[in-house]
Amino acid sequence: MNGETVMTCIDAAHAALVANTDEIAQLDQQIGDGDHIFNLLRGMEALVTARVQIEAAAFGPALDLAAMKILSTVGGSSGPLFFSLLNGMGKASANETLDIGALARIFAAGVDAVGQRGKTGEGSKTMMDVLIPVARRFEELAAAGASAGDVLAALPRTAETSMLATRDMLATKGRASFLGERSRGHIDPGARSSQLMIAAVCARLAQSS
Ligand code: ADP
Ligand code: MG
Repeated sequence: MNGETVMTCIDAAHAALVANTDEIAQLDQQIGDGDHIFNLLRGMEALVTARVQIEAAAFGPALDLAAMKILSTVGGSSGPLFFSLLNGMGKASANETLDIGALARIFAAGVDAVGQRGKTGEGSKTMMDVLIPVARRFEELAAAGASAGDVLAALPRTAETSMLATRDMLATKGRASFLGERSRGHIDPGARSSQLMIAAVCARLAQSS
């Protein structure tokens, strides 16, 4: 696990967002202002531009670098939130031997940072409704001594179930909360983009491991 691995994950997440642009745009048109996917794509393009630096860095510093790029290029609610995810993961990576237990802790630290930044947990119909269950499952699997293959197969399933569950939730955070009860019946765009990125990263890492 190093900067090249980080860049491989970014490339996988980027490709998944490009392939699902229209769907995510529509989800944010339904309960937001439609810009979510374009905010994310702008960030991904900035990360691709920083490829050489990210690949040359160690794992934690590569995440820190990616976080700073996201902060300076992505607007909306999701810019500072994705900054917090990557920055929280980067900070937690110091002095870690990157085994499955450490990676689970690092991801959980990133998700925690998002929670602090956005002041929300589960049940508000946001990306947190995917990120928290995935972080929890990751830590459970790590504690149970699961193999990398098992983790990479399991996390996309947790992400998908959790993403689908946002459809019936009432939004109480972000723009979608302005709709009140009318926010029900639509999947949260941030939950969908997070789920797609998690699935793509896991699939790519499963291929290369
Ligand atoms: P904006 O809402 O400012 O237009 P985006 O469209 O980029 O920003 O992102 C919208 C997504 O951000 C939502 O779908 C939701 O998942 C997520 N979100 C909004 N507010 C919060 C929050 N406080 N905590 C976590 N995620 C949030
Ligand atoms: Mg939006």
